[in-house]
Amino acid sequence: VTAPAITVTFLGTGSGVPSLHRNLACVALQRQGELFLFDCGEAAQIQFRRAGLGFAPLVGIAVSHMHGDHVTGLLGLLMSLQMADREEVLELYGPPGLADYVEQSRQALRTHFAYSIALQEQGCAAVLRETASYRLLAAPLDHRVFCLGFRMEEFPRPGRFDVAVARARGVPPGPLFGQLQRGEAVTLANGEVVRPDDVLGPLRPGAVIAYCTDTRPSAASIELARGADLLIHEGTFDAGMAHEARRKGHSTVADAARIARDAGARQLVITHISPRYQDVGPLLAQARAIFPETRIARDLMSVEVHHRESAEG
Ligand SMILES: [Zn+2]
Ligand SMILES: [Zn+2]
Repeated sequence: VTAPAITVTFLGTGSGVPSLHRNLACVALQRQGELFLFDCGEAAQIQFRRAGLGFAPLVGIAVSHMHGDHVTGLLGLLMSLQMADREEVLELYGPPGLADYVEQSRQALRTHFAYSIALQEQGCAAVLRETASYRLLAAPLDHRVFCLGFRMEEFPRPGRFDVAVARARGVPPGPLFGQLQRGEAVTLANGEVVRPDDVLGPLRPGAVIAYCTDTRPSAASIELARGADLLIHEGTFDAGMAHEARRKGHSTVADAARIARDAGARQLVITHISPRYQDVGPLLAQARAIFPETRIARDLMSVEVHHRESAEG
């Protein structure tokens, strides 16, 4: 059993007001020792502790939009990081207005952060963070106020090393195997050069996660979720309330399922559930009728996303 590529934990799955069963929007994404939060609703830091997550790996927080149910947990979390003597930079990404919110709250509370906060406001589609192995993208969705959706996208991984082919080419087992696996050409004792392409299979897909809330059904969501291993999409209302959903800038669970289907996503988790729904059974049935690989999020639920060996796998 291989380790998951990315583990997603739902810290808050409600909309509008917190209930005893659903806290407000916050999703944790763990990848190779790094931790990101998508949104930071009220009580995010309590849920963070309940989920057994540590502050140290926290790299950044991506805020979708400036509605209270997505940001009211932010100041408390920033203050707790200060109490924990954080020294590392914290990255904050979000819509225009985020910097003002953080700074004005900080001033009003006469508090101060000794660690540095690298804050990026984005008013259009952008790459928020890029490393050798992944990038984090944002694109505007369709809500009542300006709102960003996010996509965490690993780059394709090297193909599988074919030991039999390497041996047949005369590569001796040992350090030369490692060099080829890292993508370096090697020269054999007889002067012959063996290239990585000669012994590696086709590139393998990286893991992709998309996060789209709050939004009406939108083409931008489909693009963010294109081919994703996991789409996290809002479904504030049941399928019968499409008119109400549109008017309020939201999606129904059926809308979320259509986005997942049209994007070719592998699985869908619907979040941002209205407190009016105690029993999510009907919501699940409505979504699964359109996209079978659907789940309705609940607080502290975790989803492990594993690497696929091929585009079809
Ligand atoms: Zn919301
Ligand atoms: Zn909203």
